[in-house]
Amino acid sequence: MEYPEIFIDPDLQLFNLSGRYTISRTREGLLLQAWIEAEIESQCSRCLDLFRAKVSTDFEELYVFGNRVQEELDEEVVPEDGYIDLGKPIRDYLLLDLPMNLICKQDCKGICVECGINLNLQICEHTDRRIIFD
Ligand SMILES: [Zn+2]
Ligand SMILES: [Zn+2]
Repeated sequence: MEYPEIFIDPDLQLFNLSGRYTISRTREGLLLQAWIEAEIESQCSRCLDLFRAKVSTDFEELYVFGNRVQEELDEEVVPEDGYIDLGKPIRDYLLLDLPMNLICKQDCKGICVECGINLNLQICEHTDRRIIFD
């Protein structure tokens, strides 16, 4: 699949999503395997600028046949109409695999704690006392 832009309910806007998936039938249900890459709009945790971060995930999700549902209620079930919504697992797994601190570039200089300017763009008189948030 390829989507230049896609919104996944309820809150995830993705850009340049590309991915592959297979669905295979097993004894218990349908096994979805997916490999996803995309970009999300994110705030740099150092300089607070918005940028597009590359994110990726690969995952497996088993959708059990309705008549085989067991005690574990967290199991996904094959919907009665037979349509599996790929958006939900893609969102869940992408968010799960999101790095804690997204930074816009490896050598992002962050912001000045005194005056708040973005040190990637300018320097200020406090530059040697700056603290880089990490
Ligand atoms: Zn940054
Ligand atoms: Zn400053």
